[in-house]
Amino acid sequence: MEQKKIYYCRHCGNVIEVLVDAGIPVVCCGEEMIELTPEKVQQLG
Ligand SMILES: [Zn+2]
Repeated sequence: MEQKKIYYCRHCGNVIEVLVDAGIPVVCCGEEMIELTPEKVQQLG
């Protein structure tokens, strides 16, 4: 089972789903985005 990575930006609240993981940090607002687990995503609402 392939699990998609989800990233969250704590500056602007942007949430993205990575379709292809290139193995490099995802940056938003000039800072690395936080990787979310599905459980954390549900907590965000
Ligand atoms: Zn951002």
